[in-house]
Amino acid sequence: MTDTMTPEQRHRCMSHIKGSGTKPELKVRRWLWSHGYRYRLNVKSVPGKPDIVLRPYRTAIFVNGCFWHGHSLIPNPSPIGEGSGYFLGNSACCKIPSSNREFWVSKIRRNQERDQENYRVLQENGWHVIVVWECQLKPAVIEHTMREVELLLNENLLSLYRHKPVPYNTEEENQLPMAAEGD
Ligand SMILES: [Zn+2]
Repeated sequence: MTDTMTPEQRHRCMSHIKGSGTKPELKVRRWLWSHGYRYRLNVKSVPGKPDIVLRPYRTAIFVNGCFWHGHSLIPNPSPIGEGSGYFLGNSACCKIPSSNREFWVSKIRRNQERDQENYRVLQENGWHVIVVWECQLKPAVIEHTMREVELLLNENLLSLYRHKPVPYNTEEENQLPMAAEGD
């Protein structure tokens, strides 16, 4: 098998090292901000130190670089959280170089294991997890991606309301005078 990437492509794939303020994360933040969402960054008190935390939505967003987080590798073990907003991997966006393939695969596998562990701990603590991949933020698709994120956020908010019904106090209600309609 030959290496199908040009050196320039490989550089692009590997250059997005995870850290605060990386470009893909900024795109997500800008979109959320301009659509009225407010968030916190790299909150240390939340497990896994997610990139973006929307506490009212009980949602943690991770903006993952495709190469380092293995968008082109199916996570092993398989990803958790069907319906949690976790975007599945197995994309052809960023191929693993065929030279030193073993090395890259095992490195990426370790990152994936750490990611999966972070997502699992978050979900166990009642957090929703949304993973946005770098390749989903390209100009042609960012709007679609972020609308999808928005739908997930609203779904998460709705599920929080469903779990916390508005208290209904019949005792107090019975003592109120009946409303008289008409003259
Ligand atoms: Zn990707």
